[in-house]
Amino acid sequence: MKAIRRFTVRTVLPESIAPLARLATNLRWSWHLPTRELFASLNPQIWDESAHDPVTFLGSVSREQLQQLAEDSEVVERVRKAAEDLQGYLEEPRWYQGLSEEAPKCIAYFSPEFGITEVLPQYSGGLGILAGDHLKAASDLGVPLIGVGLLYQAGYFKQSLSRDAWQQETYPVLDPDGLPLTLLREEDGTPAQITLPLPDGRELHAWIWRADVGRVPLLLLDSNVPGNDDAARAITDRLYGGGGDHRLQQELLLGMGGVKALRIYQRLSGVPAPEVFHTNEGHAGFLGIERIRELIETKQLSWDEALAAGRASTVFTTHTPVPAGIDRFQKSQIQHFFEAGLAPGVPVENILALGSESYDGGDSAVFNMAVMGLRLAQRANGVAKLHGVVSREMFSGLWPGFDHSEVPISSVTNGVHVPTWVDPKVSELVIERSGGSLLDQPDWSKVYQIPDAELWSLRGELRSALIDDVRRRVRASWKKRGAADAELAWTDSILDPNVLTIGFARRVPTYKRLTLMLRDPARLKALLLDEKHPIQLVIAGKSHPADDAGKKMIQDLVRFTDDPEVRHRIAFLPNYDIAMARTLFPGCDVWLNNPLRPLEACGTSGMKAAINGGLNLSVLDGWWDEMYDGENGWAIPTANNGASAEERDDIEAAALYELLEDQVAPRFYGVGGTSEAAGAAGASTEPDSDLPTHWISMIKHTIATLGPAVSAERMLNDYVHKLYEPAAIAGRAIVADNFAAAKVLAAWKSKVTAAWPILAVEHVDSVGVSEDPQIGDTLTVRAYVNLDGLSSSDVRVEAAFGKALDTDELSDTDSVALHPVEDLGNGRHLFTGDLVIDRSGSFGYTVRVLPENPALANRAELGLVTSA
Ligand SMILES: *Cc1c(COP(=O)(O)O)cnc(C)c1O
Repeated sequence: MKAIRRFTVRTVLPESIAPLARLATNLRWSWHLPTRELFASLNPQIWDESAHDPVTFLGSVSREQLQQLAEDSEVVERVRKAAEDLQGYLEEPRWYQGLSEEAPKCIAYFSPEFGITEVLPQYSGGLGILAGDHLKAASDLGVPLIGVGLLYQAGYFKQSLSRDAWQQETYPVLDPDGLPLTLLREEDGTPAQITLPLPDGRELHAWIWRADVGRVPLLLLDSNVPGNDDAARAITDRLYGGGGDHRLQQELLLGMGGVKALRIYQRLSGVPAPEVFHTNEGHAGFLGIERIRELIETKQLSWDEALAAGRASTVFTTHTPVPAGIDRFQKSQIQHFFEAGLAPGVPVENILALGSESYDGGDSAVFNMAVMGLRLAQRANGVAKLHGVVSREMFSGLWPGFDHSEVPISSVTNGVHVPTWVDPKVSELVIERSGGSLLDQPDWSKVYQIPDAELWSLRGELRSALIDDVRRRVRASWKKRGAADAELAWTDSILDPNVLTIGFARRVPTYKRLTLMLRDPARLKALLLDEKHPIQLVIAGKSHPADDAGKKMIQDLVRFTDDPEVRHRIAFLPNYDIAMARTLFPGCDVWLNNPLRPLEACGTSGMKAAINGGLNLSVLDGWWDEMYDGENGWAIPTANNGASAEERDDIEAAALYELLEDQVAPRFYGVGGTSEAAGAAGASTEPDSDLPTHWISMIKHTIATLGPAVSAERMLNDYVHKLYEPAAIAGRAIVADNFAAAKVLAAWKSKVTAAWPILAVEHVDSVGVSEDPQIGDTLTVRAYVNLDGLSSSDVRVEAAFGKALDTDELSDTDSVALHPVEDLGNGRHLFTGDLVIDRSGSFGYTVRVLPENPALANRAELGLVTSA
């Protein structure tokens, strides 16, 4: 029989243990071991059966047993203590509460996916996990953030394999009542609801679910509600499921609906209005349009004024240099939806212009979400230093006339939420044993005090735990692929707890090159089967359902792993998710990453490996490009010499094999050493074996130096100081006195923009340099500039100078301001200034004019510059 309708009945807990409900729904349990241990202790068997999900667990314990627990005074006391601890965590002042008044009172963080725990499968990969880690670190630091996203009925797909190793996708439907979510309700008990108009007189309604991520509320919009037609109900069916209109409607709901949901939440909960809006990747960009709509409608601002006001307090983070990762719609689609009345009072052509690819190589029919994101935010960033460089180049068309280095996109390197990703055994040994706490700026350098033997034996335990998990998963996978138990005895002994274990897991877009290791299968086989220094590999990853190239890579890989000759040394684990990752990272000795540089924006999985003592073996891309230091792992060289794609893969794969053969494997198995700690080898289990002291010193160095650098707390700290605070200050200034500054700025911008085509540097001369210029000589530059109607205070006239290349391009540039000395009439002005020649070799300078206004965050912001 099949049910025609399904719902989850929430357990009513006896009074004395009622706080368990809150402990189960506040997701802090996902990074708070004592809470998980409390649930496990109540009934270990049911805890395992409910896949360590507290809500499912409470729903599975019988009423009789709950009653028994409620009468057990020891249990009641433990529950009370845990609830008290949670309450303390939620209320106590933390890092952020020590900041100045300038810090924003509230920050809204919009993202299309959030990866918080496997129990809430609302993520596909790095972007979602990062968003989850952002919320968790914000909670730990007391940053007053509110997350906004969508609740997908089936989340992302579950992956399994067919007999012939082709990825199979299933979409188990989630019941929100069975998830750690609370429906937001009006005071009269009815569900709070937002509504957006759709074309053809239809409407889109959505309810708002709240997940509690520690101190941080996460609002998730759900369109599967009564009152919607079937098509509207299906808008939040799956994450990255459809394309075209389906995807566009998801993004309209996320951005426009998300702001409306925030306003309802503010009204019902009394939290302050967000002072900063953070758009995590282009998908959420429509939030800026909704804010403009609000300002036009309620404050009677013009488009330009509302845009200026909204931009000041908006931060945009771009996450990918891969074109396929950027949403592009047809302008006609956007027009179709907005003409249905999504943003009354907002001219549709202005919206279309925001996403317009109005630069060389752009497509004039296309609406680009990343481009809109950049135009709607006064502050933008990439997610690693190298990614900042790549993004400045990639989007430089939006700032014509500026050098790439001047494009106003900064970078904040991603981080990982340490309490989520560090194995409890590692934090016990490195942090807690010396009296530290993960929550209070842990001192990672304490790792140097741990005896080598102890650290090595911990690494062995973690490796063994991974191997147990791998055996279980490989057996389950083969059963799904149609094998009988009798054929599967071999799975009980795959992988060896004493063999160098290398992990590779991530989404499978082609640029991540899952199958690079297969480039020379014979060589890989030799590495796996080496008698003295074997390696073993654990691999996982999902391919996007529409990406057959990715699925083919998985198939190639899995077919290789199916070979009876090597299958004890290499395993592919289906359905990569947070639960798997938490065993995988700590269990791997080496974390492998070989993307096509520079397409990996940051990458965070190597960071998760590092905090557990894994060494990275990676292409110098993303975070590794800035954090590799020669002693914390290995860099796979990049063939960037103009080789073809095929040659490049050959060269880089060969380099990878070579590193594994010559450096990684020998060092892992290396014996002896002269370091003092090697003396502690007495603790080793095999009497005549020694410890790989060089390897262990690399582990210690990795943990001590990368621990603080890769943590999400460091990342939040950067966001708060470099982006949130400046955005809040700018946002407050621009709305003060009934938007006085927004009005002035908007008027100034249109004046400057109108004057710009006429403005010109008419003549430049210089005095002071002899025939034979020397370092230290001073050059007085005089520039005659026609400012049209602008005043000399509207602009910065500067001499930009640097090394002159053969093409006359300037590099390593610097600039000095020239000052107005004479008004020559008719809009013409003379500017002069001194420039000191500070370098030898070929030297050049130019004069240029840029708009200048204290309300600009960056001189390149308006994309206006005129050079001599
Ligand atoms: C960390 C993580 C990712 C992201 O990994 P990248 O290295 O950034 O690609 C994806 N999925 C899961 C389950 C993760 O834990």
